[in-house]
Amino acid sequence: MKFKAIVTALFCFVVLQAMAQQPAPDKVQTKKGDLVIRPVLHSSMVLSWDNKTIYVDPHGGATGFAGIAAPDLILLTDIHGDHLDLKTLDALQTGKATIVAPQAVADKLPEKYKQKLVVLQNGKSTTQLGIPIKAIPMYNLPETADAMHPKGRGNGYVLDLAGTKVYISGDTEDIPEMRSLKDIAVAFVSMNLPYTMPVEQAAKGVLAFKPKIVYPYHYRGKDGFSDVEKFKQLVQAKNKNIEVRLRDWYPEK
Ligand code: ZN
Repeated sequence: MKFKAIVTALFCFVVLQAMAQQPAPDKVQTKKGDLVIRPVLHSSMVLSWDNKTIYVDPHGGATGFAGIAAPDLILLTDIHGDHLDLKTLDALQTGKATIVAPQAVADKLPEKYKQKLVVLQNGKSTTQLGIPIKAIPMYNLPETADAMHPKGRGNGYVLDLAGTKVYISGDTEDIPEMRSLKDIAVAFVSMNLPYTMPVEQAAKGVLAFKPKIVYPYHYRGKDGFSDVEKFKQLVQAKNKNIEVRLRDWYPEK
């Protein structure tokens, strides 16, 4: 009996440790219950809503997704390893998942992922699991053919969760298609150099489309992390109604 008590105590300790390491996920109210948001790594996140689990750009290994339900939907934005990571996809339980991706990503997916693949071009929409999904362009400015992210290759996404619109920018600068977005409740906006944009530019873009909540994500650049605190200050100095949520997207740093 004593042994059992020790084992139980040890088990509780391990569970509590694991819980302490994983911050409680954020929640946003929608008309169909809470949207639960879990940052995983850099561009990877999990959105849980209406009994559906959505993975965005899973990469960096399956351990980041441990303890989280298998995906019903996977959104992929671009071809680079921090967005399309076949090793991580192979290690996850993707059997029931529909994958939404641009053509350039689809071209790199092995056959086994193509049965439930929906290819979406910039500007086009689809409804999956009852969720309207629109592909938003993502690209570098000025537009050049040799840009790291040329227009038309990758997709940002807007999901409509019973009227609560969620924007995932992908790797982009403050393009007109971002600036003209309307009624966004939650936005995930990339800001890192030299791949996307500096925090000043990201703040200007966000101030233009005024999401209710914005998460800086994808903020590790070539020479370290972007100053997301500064991003928050820049946004809030001009518009206090935009809530800037700084979260740890880099659990291993
Ligand atoms: Zn990236």
